Amino acid sequence: MKLPIFHFLPLIVISLEFLGTASLKADLKIASLSTVTTDLAKQIGGDHVTVDGIIRAVTDPHEFEPTPGDVKKVADANLVLLTGKGMEGYLSKLEEAAGGSAKFVNVGKNIPSLSMTEQGKKVEDPHWWHSVENMKEATRAVAEAFEKADPANAVIYDKNAAGYLAKLDELERWIRVKLAPLPHERRKLVTSHDALGYFARDYDFTIYPVKGVSTAEDPSSQHVKEIIGVIRNQGVKAIFFETIENPRAVQQIADETGAKAGGSLYSDGLGETEANTYDSMMRHNVSVIVEGLK
Ligand SMILES: [Zn+2]
Repeated sequence: MKLPIFHFLPLIVISLEFLGTASLKADLKIASLSTVTTDLAKQIGGDHVTVDGIIRAVTDPHEFEPTPGDVKKVADANLVLLTGKGMEGYLSKLEEAAGGSAKFVNVGKNIPSLSMTEQGKKVEDPHWWHSVENMKEATRAVAEAFEKADPANAVIYDKNAAGYLAKLDELERWIRVKLAPLPHERRKLVTSHDALGYFARDYDFTIYPVKGVSTAEDPSSQHVKEIIGVIRNQGVKAIFFETIENPRAVQQIADETGAKAGGSLYSDGLGETEANTYDSMMRHNVSVIVEGLK
């Protein structure tokens, strides 16, 4: 009877794997200045990183100011992930306060920028993660940073990144199938701030923002009038709230135009319970958009 020995094999494999992991503890301490990069760091780092999300779910990254506690977390980290393109207006102050020991990784740096007009000035659009293609670039950037900082686990980070890239491919396919029934003339998005430019570029939408790029200022009554005009002239079916925004202006426009209020979009980061990963955030947004505009 040789058969029973096979029952022990899985046990042996599991215990070796356990020992291997245990001997490589606490490899990288990551601090993250966006919920999007927090999720990405976990996807690529797995058990080999601890990720401190400085900016938490449903926090407005445009208005964020780091506390002394945040400065300490940043100073203690091996790597600090940020999305870049001007989103972290406090960055130079934070770098200085953290004492220059932490290494900042600008994840959006090599992603081609869209520009947008903000108070008459041309600025970079910082919301690059609404393009899955851009998220793939970000995945490669984070994997490269992890591999450089922790070469002992480079093979693992590389493997995790490859797995995540495959997941992003699958997400991209899902989005295209989901959006397919929506004809070109329905692909018009009125949102409470101009965060979906990269999404619009990738999927043939036109954006009519109620606010500019930043969430800092309320729209002028002139701007609200313009938006109402656009909704009427273009026959826009629905307008969308954003989860971190005061919905008052959007609701007012919906009331005046008869467009329906089409649900909440996650524009500036991930959610707390629903949409709490990049994948589920994108699926949530696309589902809400299709439901509103179909
Ligand atoms: Zn934003």
